[in-house]
Amino acid sequence: MNTQLMPPEEIQRRLESILPKVQKPGRYTGGEINQVVKDWQTDLTKVVFVFPDLYDIGMSNLGLAILYELLNQRSDTLAERAYMPWIDMEEAMREARVPLYSLETKHPLAAFDIIGFSIPYETLFTNLLNALDLAGIPLFSKERTVEHPLVIAGGHAAFNPEPMHSFIDAFVIGEGEEVIQEIVNVHKDWRSQGTSRLDLLRALSRLTGVYVPRLYDAHYENDGIFSHLEKLDEAASLPVLKRIVPALPPPPTHFIVPYIETIHNRIPIEVMRGCTRGCRFCHAGMITRPVRERSVDEIVEAIDQALKNTGFEEIGLLSLSSSDYTHILDLVKVVSERYAGKHLGISLPSLRIETFSVELMDALKESRHGGFTLAPEAATERMREIINKPVSTAQLLETARAIYSRGWTTIKLYFMIGHPSETLEDVQAIADLCKAVLAEGRKIMGRRARLNAGVSTFVPKPHTPFQWVSCDSVEQIHAKQDILRHALRDRDIKLTWTHPEDTLLEAWLSRGDRRMSDVIYQAWKRGAKFDAWQEHFSYSAWMEAFAHVGLNPEFYTHRPRRIDEIFPWDHISTGVRKKYLAQDYLNSLQGETRIDCREQCYACGILPTFAEMRSLHPGDSWKCPEVTPKSSRRAQRLQPHDLPIIGNE
Ligand code: SF4
Repeated sequence: MNTQLMPPEEIQRRLESILPKVQKPGRYTGGEINQVVKDWQTDLTKVVFVFPDLYDIGMSNLGLAILYELLNQRSDTLAERAYMPWIDMEEAMREARVPLYSLETKHPLAAFDIIGFSIPYETLFTNLLNALDLAGIPLFSKERTVEHPLVIAGGHAAFNPEPMHSFIDAFVIGEGEEVIQEIVNVHKDWRSQGTSRLDLLRALSRLTGVYVPRLYDAHYENDGIFSHLEKLDEAASLPVLKRIVPALPPPPTHFIVPYIETIHNRIPIEVMRGCTRGCRFCHAGMITRPVRERSVDEIVEAIDQALKNTGFEEIGLLSLSSSDYTHILDLVKVVSERYAGKHLGISLPSLRIETFSVELMDALKESRHGGFTLAPEAATERMREIINKPVSTAQLLETARAIYSRGWTTIKLYFMIGHPSETLEDVQAIADLCKAVLAEGRKIMGRRARLNAGVSTFVPKPHTPFQWVSCDSVEQIHAKQDILRHALRDRDIKLTWTHPEDTLLEAWLSRGDRRMSDVIYQAWKRGAKFDAWQEHFSYSAWMEAFAHVGLNPEFYTHRPRRIDEIFPWDHISTGVRKKYLAQDYLNSLQGETRIDCREQCYACGILPTFAEMRSLHPGDSWKCPEVTPKSSRRAQRLQPHDLPIIGNE
């Protein structure tokens, strides 16, 4: 039997003997409330969305929930789901020769027309390879034929697609709501025409927001530094502009209700997309511009619907910076009154450090027993100016007092070490600030006050003002973490940190070039998978992979980069100009900050890039200044000069 195309009945039969032997079989059964099952006998375009990590994690991914609901609304398409099996299940599946299958109908992945991977972070890359292998689909794009599904991938990590260029047929750059529909349409037309796979890739490449790596070749200087990307086909565009939607479409409300505990058992409602704060380390803040908001009415209606459809007891009002949502006060007032007495938990993550945030949380009457999270990211005002997250220590302590005095017993503070120009004194200041915050709590509630300090290590990300900086070495990270461990010995303070090797992996992959594909493949061959899981991360597999390919990992992490260096991801345009990022980086070296760009537009490049879209969508749901059709035309004429500096300019 061709196991890649094993009939669903056979997969189901084999699962019946496997599932009683593995941990948490509920991960692998499907059948949840709100899953969509359509008839496979009809001529539908069949799409499977894959989150290449455990079901427990992937079920909380909002992006895939949006696309699943959108595609299943089409009468000519079906969408199903698949997740990575845990180690025990993978072994059992391989032994029983069960290919990776969809939860809804137990069809093997190879039977679908399109496989859409979500890659929000880089440490999923080896799992993606493992998913393809478990599905019996060739790992390399160039080895796939018309018989194989189209393999696409999107998510924040796709903004530097080069390390995964060998494995993915087409990347979706940016927001997927519209472009996924166009991809399905292109695939449908191609199937009806029966032409070559290359024809399909060419047609996809003509869509805004789609990058087909096989239509380009990368070149390097003698010293190994990236030189430029060459177009190999007239259908390929340079640069590849990200896709955005002009207005956020109605939020999904038919969330699938899992049978088992997942990381977030709640209704996620996105209140706005994008961020205008300009924190220089923040990848999401740069790539998701411009800010677009939903109305309070739309959010409340979505909550009503989603509660009816799911029965969840918690709602997450999500965004990168919730207290910056223009109508946050109205929203909180309406939500707290409307759902009073219904025992609903309402969370408002990503709040700014100010007493206003505490008032917002207070109005939502959240449990005082949980923690209140703040993310100062750095402990000295100098450091916070460098990263452009200016908040005074006095303001932070005042906010901490407000939190403890309203009954929260635990404050969670998030910091990063390894910011550019950080000294050991800046690290010691993290410990001092934690103690100062806890001291405020003790003044208010005595020994009941607690503090959790989560200290991760900064990884420079592409498309941010810090894309030029080098990353701390393992030795530097150890030295800084030792300071914190030593200084924060207090039974009421819980310190957590990221392992230096995990940080390095993220750093290699984040700013990797095409040559990293070989490293990823070799690491996977040596057993690398579940790299985001500490107990499975194999540093030695990666070191051996680098040695095998003949690349120096430090080239990607510790090498200082010239301000005019051409980057392997420069052909991907987020709309934010490289010149703007470079200026912002130089500003940071002077300790100069930039205020919220809703108050002062810094001409980052978003407006000229999306001028026409903005002029067609006037009003305050966008937070960039309005443009008239006339100025939009002028901006568009200017656009080629405003696009990022790329190798082919
Ligand atoms: S165009 Fe101006 S307002 Fe819009 S995101 Fe850029 S800097 Fe901010």
